[in-house]
Amino acid sequence: AKVGGRGTYRFFQPAMTSLAVERLNFEMQLRGAVANGELELFYQPKISLDSGVACGVEALVRWHHPTLGMIPPVEFIPVAEATGIIDALGDWVLEEACRQLRAWRLAGLGTIKIAVNVSARQLQQSDLPEYIASLAQKYEISACDLEVELTESVLMANPEEISGVLSRLRGIGVLVAIDDFGTGYSSLAYLRRLPIDVLKIDRSFVMNADRDESDGQVVKLILGLGSALQLAIVAEGVETEAQAAFLKSCGCTTAQGYLYARPQPAAQLETWLRKHAG
Ligand code: C2E
Ligand code: CA
Ligand code: CA
Ligand code: CA
Repeated sequence: AKVGGRGTYRFFQPAMTSLAVERLNFEMQLRGAVANGELELFYQPKISLDSGVACGVEALVRWHHPTLGMIPPVEFIPVAEATGIIDALGDWVLEEACRQLRAWRLAGLGTIKIAVNVSARQLQQSDLPEYIASLAQKYEISACDLEVELTESVLMANPEEISGVLSRLRGIGVLVAIDDFGTGYSSLAYLRRLPIDVLKIDRSFVMNADRDESDGQVVKLILGLGSALQLAIVAEGVETEAQAAFLKSCGCTTAQGYLYARPQPAAQLETWLRKHAG
């Protein structure tokens, strides 16, 4: 706040107020971002380790802020979740992914699947399966080509309630993946009972798996869990050939990370996919 000449008085704490104003501004801008077309989905491929071919992509949202430039999701997804903006934002992400899937089909990229990150709040809105079904119909795609990624905390906070939504998602063909697996505390009982298809091993384990004995053991343990429960396993955040080699030697079939490709705009990824097609 500006403090100047005569008659200047404060009945507030300037620091706190400017922070609150800043926050409110950010919120308003974020609310507008969805409507103003400032969001974009980037895509990062998931690679089949034995063939080197991309078997799917993960959609990762970006915000092109008019003055601040590109803002990464860690800086606005938590705000979106806390304020409820995630409802509109999440709907937009799902619709945009479906639109892109349709566009890639028409462009001749036949078999690519898209995974979308879904927040707790979106899942708790029990109309999520119906919304996805309606998008699949609108864009003439199969819901079987969509996957939702949820974190363990989302599942375990309310497993009974979430279980019903997951079953309905599965009922329309949507695959369900647990993101950042190993960082939360999933109950094995629920893991077995919930309709889940994929575990994504968190990057923090993958990072040192080839050099650190215990991280390597954790990765092997998750792979073992996957085969026991008949879940597909994806290793996240693979950056080096040594990590990829280690994962392959442990029987991991799918990986994702900067080693293969960074998240990138749809057009760029399309070019990449054509070069790495099966
Ligand atoms: P996530 O779902 O765990 O996504 C993986 C993050 O790791 C992405 O960050 C990705 O760019 C990054 N990454 C991929 N490969 C590598 C690698 O080899 N090394 C390193 N260091 N990082 C790698 P990003 O795009 O910044 O997204 C961060 C998080 O934001 C995501 O984590 C996800 O939780 C959230 N998010 C992104 N898009 C959405 C969305 O549309 N909806 C919701 N609800 N959350 C989203
Ligand atoms: Ca909704
Ligand atoms: Ca994810
Ligand atoms: Ca993750």
